[in-house]
Amino acid sequence: MGQLQDVGEADGWRCWLCDEPVEPDMSPNDPRGASLDTRTSKGRAKKKKQDKGNLPTERLAHKSCNTGKGSNDPVVPWPDHLIVVDPAPIIAAAERLERKGGREAMARCPTRQDAEAVAEWLVDRLSRLAPGLDVSTEIATTGGQHLVSLRTS
Ligand SMILES: [Zn+2]
Repeated sequence: MGQLQDVGEADGWRCWLCDEPVEPDMSPNDPRGASLDTRTSKGRAKKKKQDKGNLPTERLAHKSCNTGKGSNDPVVPWPDHLIVVDPAPIIAAAERLERKGGREAMARCPTRQDAEAVAEWLVDRLSRLAPGLDVSTEIATTGGQHLVSLRTS
């Protein structure tokens, strides 16, 4: 129980997958109750300790969000209100940025306004998903589409 408490506090009692609050006192059997998502540590356990990045190896998730334990990779959903084409997998992009830095194309948008909304959402989302990662956004307009990228500074 102590570990869940620690991870919960580190994550601000917010689910790392759906970004919604988690109620610490809710029964662990409730779908909205708190659970530890340990899938993040799977690929990292093989690496040497000093190579470990800033992404914590365990994260707080709702029990209902923390499904498919084992073979499935965790997925951070893109919100419905953002209009995006070809959205990139967010966790994989965050891990690559953390590992080697640089730039990751995240999504294409039909309008500049959509692209700006996506850029703003991504930076806010990443601030909780990968708190140690310092990223900025870039919007490139080509062929009438607006490509939103993340880059490390
Ligand atoms: Zn959740």
